[in-house]
Amino acid sequence: MLPRKRILLLTTGGTIASVPGGQGLEPKDSAVLDREIRYLRNYYDVIVEDLMCLDSSNIRPVEWQKMARRIFESRQDYDGIVVSHGTDTMAYSASAVSFMLQDIDLPVVFTGSQLPLWELLSDGPDNLRTSFAMAASGRPGVFLCFDRKVMLGCRAVKVRASGFSAFQSINAHYAATVSSLGLTVDDRVIPRPKGPAMLLPEISSDVFLLKLTPGLSPRIFDMLSDMGYRGIVIEAFGLGGINVMHQGLSGIRQAVEKGISVVVTTQCLYDSADLQVYQVGNKLLEMGVIQGRDMTTEAAMVKLMWAIGQGLSQEEIARLFARNLRGEITLQEKG
Ligand code: ASP
Repeated sequence: MLPRKRILLLTTGGTIASVPGGQGLEPKDSAVLDREIRYLRNYYDVIVEDLMCLDSSNIRPVEWQKMARRIFESRQDYDGIVVSHGTDTMAYSASAVSFMLQDIDLPVVFTGSQLPLWELLSDGPDNLRTSFAMAASGRPGVFLCFDRKVMLGCRAVKVRASGFSAFQSINAHYAATVSSLGLTVDDRVIPRPKGPAMLLPEISSDVFLLKLTPGLSPRIFDMLSDMGYRGIVIEAFGLGGINVMHQGLSGIRQAVEKGISVVVTTQCLYDSADLQVYQVGNKLLEMGVIQGRDMTTEAAMVKLMWAIGQGLSQEEIARLFARNLRGEITLQEKG
């Protein structure tokens, strides 16, 4: 018989571990996951550690660092790590940990549920079981698992507030799915480690996400620079359209000239922004605006926060965005 896989379950809170309190659902520690953990112990050696106990809307970059550090320190003692987490900001945490843990050498799988685990019809047991199967798969990387689908952490987006199919892999195939054959992993989707695992947890919170709306005041860029922001991710229209008339362009130019890194992505969930298609986009590229291409907003935000945290210059950040670090971006083939 093959030795049983040793899996660490790190709990962080979220609906999966919540119980009703005086003012609604409150996250608790792993005691509330006990019945499912006992079941999983029929198949795996499960070690449980309560890392934090938060509704994920309260998770900040400092908690991402705590998760990344704990995963990095523990990685040699386990075959895989499952992180139970609230769904609301799980795509941000999974993206952040993907960048902080470069070339991680074991599977790290984020999961949660839409209904607390104690509920009879909870989706939690299914999500935990699939996550454990992925954590035991031997495929290194940071993943997010939900509704029997496993995706790269940096490609996940929460698309439903209450439905069980709450996450989708945006502009990337699923890394694994479940069928009557069991867990089927698509190895083409999973980036291979290129060197030894590294912990790079430094991150900056000085990045602002700006969703463009028709008629937005260009003074917003002055305000953001006065507030000390060092990066702006602009969720632009369609392929990357930006309202450049009425001084919009000069606001962005000044921001770039002041040393702020500006990344443009699209408000559309699917496909890629491409600033080279329209005149307005090419004007932005001339100014040094960075293309976010088909990255999710979560991945673009966190990549910029992380790049600034690494102390990179504006030029180095632009070069970093032209590289695919963890499978987060589809780059055009040079032809
Ligand atoms: N508010 C919860 C959280 O993100 C939602 C959930 O876990 O589904 O912690």
